[in-house]
Amino acid sequence: MAGGKCIALIAHDQKKDAMAEFAHRNQDVLSGYRIVATGTTGGRVLDACPTLNVTRLKSGPLGGDQQIGALIATGEIDLLIFFIDPLTPVPHDVDVKALTRLAVLYDIPMALNEATAERLIKTLNH
Ligand code: PGA
Repeated sequence: MAGGKCIALIAHDQKKDAMAEFAHRNQDVLSGYRIVATGTTGGRVLDACPTLNVTRLKSGPLGGDQQIGALIATGEIDLLIFFIDPLTPVPHDVDVKALTRLAVLYDIPMALNEATAERLIKTLNH
């Protein structure tokens, strides 16, 4: 995946509305970056912001989180925004743990909730 800084976006089901609204609100900043997202999240972001440069990977439960983890390991992700739902069990919980572990290991700025994401995105250049 060549060229330009890259932001990864993921949202659990109960957080997808919040992610779509977050992307819409921050469209100006996001438009300066390549975006990779898990399948359903990427679809929701594109519905909200059709002009963004979004690459949709597999859906999270089918391996999308692991694909993003692999991109972190190969140095292709500069920022991870992952809206986690702490109230609903997910079948791919181990993948979520693996992904957040890799983000810590490779020292990638990572927001796991909206308040942190809003602050992190303000540190990016337009
Ligand atoms: P999704 O995956 O965007 O394909 O729903 C997100 C997840 O649950 O990890």
